[in-house]
Amino acid sequence: MKVFKFGGASVKDAAAVKNVAAILKRFAGEELIIVVSAMAKTTNNLERLTNAFFYKKEDPQTVLDEVKNFHAGILKELFPNTSHPIYAQVENDFVELQWAIEDEPSYGYNHEYDQIVCMGEVISARIVAAYLKENGINCEWMDSRGIIQTDNTYREGNVDFELTQKLAQKELMPVLKKNKVIVTQGFLGGTSENFTTTLGREGSDYTAAILAYSTEAESVTIWKDVPGVLNADPKWFNNTQLIEDLTYQDAIELAYYGATVIHPKTIKPLQNKNIPLYVKSFVNPEATGTVIKDINRHLPIPSFIFKVNQLLITISPRDFSFIAEENLSKIFALFHQYGVKSHVMQLSAISFSVCVDMDEKKIPELVAELQKEYKVLYNENVELVTIRYYDQSTIDRVCINKQVLLEQKSRYTVQLVVRNLS
Ligand code: ASP
Ligand code: MG
Repeated sequence: MKVFKFGGASVKDAAAVKNVAAILKRFAGEELIIVVSAMAKTTNNLERLTNAFFYKKEDPQTVLDEVKNFHAGILKELFPNTSHPIYAQVENDFVELQWAIEDEPSYGYNHEYDQIVCMGEVISARIVAAYLKENGINCEWMDSRGIIQTDNTYREGNVDFELTQKLAQKELMPVLKKNKVIVTQGFLGGTSENFTTTLGREGSDYTAAILAYSTEAESVTIWKDVPGVLNADPKWFNNTQLIEDLTYQDAIELAYYGATVIHPKTIKPLQNKNIPLYVKSFVNPEATGTVIKDINRHLPIPSFIFKVNQLLITISPRDFSFIAEENLSKIFALFHQYGVKSHVMQLSAISFSVCVDMDEKKIPELVAELQKEYKVLYNENVELVTIRYYDQSTIDRVCINKQVLLEQKSRYTVQLVVRNLS
């Protein structure tokens, strides 16, 4: 059995959904679990809806109508017969959202966020399943929230793998054996109290890995709008090269440093069960793409990862004392509390520097808290460049017209926090 994941770009409009069906026809007769993301930028729009509802900055109804109209357009193109039951099902999902925004928020932001934002995947998986069924692929829609169980860390649910595996064996496998194809939502989990959690932005890849782990799948394929894993993001670099095979270790390092092609949490469950991960193009499905598996060789070429909109924070004790274990544990506790992740850190006698994503909400709160005890300086609008398998010429290449604020080298990886000079 194989697990396929189709991300937001691969179901961004009606033509894209039709293309998914065409790809699946190539696998007729095989057992498949299909994991789908919200369509196009729906998650961003539902995030906007959550903010409008929670902070009352924008009219929630306007945002909801936008999301609704977008899906109505896709439905109309995919199902010319307007009495198809999918119309009523999607309408019900929107009624649920309508109710959600009519009440006052009753839980914290993250909790409310998950109950609203999840609907992008719920609706998308429903539409894709109905379309496939209508077009000769005998599949069953299954709610992943009943299989993937998490704690109640909203927006970043921690998966209970043991329970998830049990539920997958008990609930999912029999349906798969019977129907051969299951369509389910990415990105979502369920708690013991039946609330929805999300697994972190771009978390549908992770869903595919969790389900593969829990069902002992033979492989996972992520279908993307790029030919596979490239040695740099074409958005920032010309002449990128496709990496045909890659070790789990290199893949997890690249993803960890910010290569957006795979969600960083995806690799561990697959490596743990030695399940290969294919990254293939949904535009050109015959092409080989990339396979990530247990092979014994390094990346043949240097890989570059750019993260823009970074913030370099430097934290020092006010009284010139050393920044040792006690201070660090306080600082890390605050980073953890505010959910701020560091991408690179460096320590000196009296200061600690850390590069993080600029998050308009979390960062000011964290900085205010740190400032109670420490001197906090920061550089905004810096970039983090990571090169795996670097040499001096690759470093020189990325430093043209940049000022290096921090540099850290290990045997295989160099990380540079840089600022544009021009
Ligand atoms: N729809 C979610 C997001 O945009 C999950 C995903 O696409 O993987 O973050
Ligand atoms: Mg996505």
